[in-house]
Amino acid sequence: MNSAVLKSSLEPAWEMTIGGQAVAGSRYIPVFDPVTGVVFTEAPDATVAETDSAIEAAAAAFPAWSGLSWDARAEKVRAFGAAIREENSNLARLLCREQGKPLEKAVSEIGAGLVYLEAFCGMRLDPEILKETEKQRIEQHHRPLGVVGAITAWNYPLLLAIWKIAPALVAGNTIVVKPAPSTPLATLALGRIAARVLPPGVVNVISGGTESGERLTQHEKVRKITFTGSTETGKRIMANASPRMKRLTLELGGNDAGIVLEDADPKAIAADIFWAKFSNCGQVCAALKRLYVHRSIFAPLCDALAEVAGGVKIGPGMTAGVQIGPMQNRAQRDRMVQTVAASVAAGARVIYQGDVPRGDGYFFPITLLADAPEDSPVVRSETFGPVLAILPFDDVEDAIARANDTEYGLGGSVWSPDVARATAIAERLEAGSTWVNQHPSMDPQVPFGGIKSSGLGVEGGLRGLEEFTTIQIVNVKK
Ligand code: NAD
Repeated sequence: MNSAVLKSSLEPAWEMTIGGQAVAGSRYIPVFDPVTGVVFTEAPDATVAETDSAIEAAAAAFPAWSGLSWDARAEKVRAFGAAIREENSNLARLLCREQGKPLEKAVSEIGAGLVYLEAFCGMRLDPEILKETEKQRIEQHHRPLGVVGAITAWNYPLLLAIWKIAPALVAGNTIVVKPAPSTPLATLALGRIAARVLPPGVVNVISGGTESGERLTQHEKVRKITFTGSTETGKRIMANASPRMKRLTLELGGNDAGIVLEDADPKAIAADIFWAKFSNCGQVCAALKRLYVHRSIFAPLCDALAEVAGGVKIGPGMTAGVQIGPMQNRAQRDRMVQTVAASVAAGARVIYQGDVPRGDGYFFPITLLADAPEDSPVVRSETFGPVLAILPFDDVEDAIARANDTEYGLGGSVWSPDVARATAIAERLEAGSTWVNQHPSMDPQVPFGGIKSSGLGVEGGLRGLEEFTTIQIVNVKK
């Protein structure tokens, strides 16, 4: 492994990548190990001046990078992907350590990111002739925007970073990436890898919290913000980006519903439904968060879910065989404690709660809550953790209405062997993506994004790539 890229101890401290150079911070934030709750290293907390210098480096690199041909850029991004692949196991260990997820899931997070990277390298946005006559020729071109600011959440730090870096670069932009302050390390390491294989300033990685994030969203040279995080922060970013009309892609929170129809087989679908919720310790934007189940199969499905839950191994991500690690941070874990307490006080029944390792880590037990009132927190708010609300219904029209009765609109699913009927119901869910007999399912060729308060724009697919460009019309009088 390249020791300049990955460090495992406090000294020397982690460095940012600005203009291809490793840059130490002038101040630092602690990074906690979610397994123990103990600080294990610290990362730079970029100041406004450091954020500005990353933006300036990206702006300086933009003319040469955007001047390369589309194919030349794609080739260099592929080389970046190959360099990431070489470091996969080191990056995965880092991701496991800072994020808490099982090592094998960290490996697959990076693998999934690379599948997206490859797919973006294979996409093109060629010029189009919109009109050609004897007197006139009108062409449509996709132009890069300039400097992109990418701000990511702590649930999938590397996947989210790669989702943003690859299309931004292929389309001809340069980028400044800022991961969440609680998971900065793997993304900082990604910046060091980028510096080895890409021209200086094309990819800059800073770490820090709200101050550097806000600066990115306000700086005049940042032409676009691509953001993954909470709806609350998304709204603030929109406001901060508005004075300069920055382009925005916002991938925000979700409160996805799943509807299980009366003809579904509880035992056959229980494992898929379980993992639709509990993957990544329930910290997934498009996890299944509210499960509406026809009353005729409510009890058997609750039993089948509890049986699956009972067989799941929870523990430190580095331990072989562990399927669910701790939650990523203390604040989120505490929010789960409050959500469950308030929902139970409002009438929800705990039908299953697992065990967790003792100690000061951020573990939270797998929890199945039945019959929570519709106005209780586990139903109303985004439950970003290992707690599933299971709710009975008698009439499918009532289930659809309750599923749609939320400010969010990220994903939704319907479960039934009658695929045609399930599909017709799925089409009535107010969500950017709807699934039948699965939840969620992502593909690099398929756009993903939320409606309502779940976001703006899409990531993935040609539509996602287009969001890193602007259209220019060239209209020539012959
Ligand atoms: P968050 O909004 O608290 O933070 C996300 C990022 O925004 C961090 O990097 C943070 O430092 C930065 N930030 C905070 N305030 C900012 C500001 N005022 N200006 C600019 N940047 C700022 O979200 P989180 O708690 O890290 O992530 C969890 C949330 O992310 C959940 O709501 C989840 O649903 C959502 N999420 C959405 C998707 C999606 O694709 N829709 C994917 C993953 C996570």
